[in-house]
Amino acid sequence: MQEKHAVVIVAAGRGLRFGDANDFIPKQYQMLGDKCVLQHCINQFIASDLIAHIQVVINADDGELYNELIADSEKLLLAVSGGPSRQESCANGIFTLAKINPEKILIHDAARPFVTTKTIGDVIEAIRPGICALPATPINDTIKRATTSNSTIMVEETVPRDNLYLAQTPQGFIYREICQAHKKANDQGHIDFTDDAAIAEWAKMQVVLVKADPANLKITTSNDLELANRQLQLTRSNKAELMIPDIRTGNGYDVHRLIKGDGVILCGVKIPSDKKLDGHSDADVAMHAITDALLGAIGEGDIGSHFPPSDRQWKNASSNKFLNHACTLAREINGTITHLDVSIICEDPKIGPHREAMRKNIAEICGLDIKRISVKATTNEEIGAIGRGEGIAAIATATVVFGP
Ligand code: MG
Repeated sequence: MQEKHAVVIVAAGRGLRFGDANDFIPKQYQMLGDKCVLQHCINQFIASDLIAHIQVVINADDGELYNELIADSEKLLLAVSGGPSRQESCANGIFTLAKINPEKILIHDAARPFVTTKTIGDVIEAIRPGICALPATPINDTIKRATTSNSTIMVEETVPRDNLYLAQTPQGFIYREICQAHKKANDQGHIDFTDDAAIAEWAKMQVVLVKADPANLKITTSNDLELANRQLQLTRSNKAELMIPDIRTGNGYDVHRLIKGDGVILCGVKIPSDKKLDGHSDADVAMHAITDALLGAIGEGDIGSHFPPSDRQWKNASSNKFLNHACTLAREINGTITHLDVSIICEDPKIGPHREAMRKNIAEICGLDIKRISVKATTNEEIGAIGRGEGIAAIATATVVFGP
């Protein structure tokens, strides 16, 4: 069985760089698309198969905001309150997980809503005893160190950017090790580390870098939130473009011989005649073509494989049953029949007067609006066996849509 791990999402910050209005909403509860920033984070960890427990650390003042989140997942533990610094908040979350005692733990900032399940997996993969994992991107811009004097910012030096990286979250640790490091830092009065990898470094653990996704941006200011909204829209429109609708079509063909009889059954409607179609069932050639088309659209073989002529139970059976069975099969695999079209090829009888009754019968069997059923007829211009009235042929097309 695959190992399961835990994540602490630190969402206790006040976001002092975000805004200064008195009634401002902390950045982790700001809306990003149709969900708040924190909800996006939680959803990403719910989506990861590697994560079994999600511990959110909230500000004691944000209980109401947090309770409005919708996250129906048994992975999500009861939120705990944070402390006065990020480090203390994080420690609260970590130590709360003692009863679960996961092997590996990730620590994630609620301000990074675009974390992907790939990054989550890559970080977990890189964690080893004594080694923690940190997602990071190399710095490409030139770095300047500056000082401010009389409101003027002056460059002091250019910092060589070789081997400089930007640290992200989630950062990953062996649970027992990061607990010890946090406890040691706290015991020695070090309470202002800005991330957990820094605590690990201080505790003489090794930190390896994992290739991070530059899209995993951190929302610090209201400008970042605007940027995040644009990024979200872009991602969604790309996805929409890639979402190719799953529409499948199938075709069906059948032919039956005409013999002396008391009426011809087509699409379940008995048309008065001194002939009938010859076959094992009621020989409804049009219904057989439609059924085969539907079976074709859902990849379920052909009518003969479901209702073999050798099976005595189908002797003289109404072909309505065959179409009904194909409809059930389509529904079982979440297929929605959107259209059925059949062409009946014969010199006689005339189809026109019975067309509406045929459409109605098929629509009822399939549970479809009659507008989605088409019955057409043509002669064979007296050419060949069908043209000589020796039999009737039918050709059909079925359209089935799959997906949500
Ligand atoms: Mg047949």
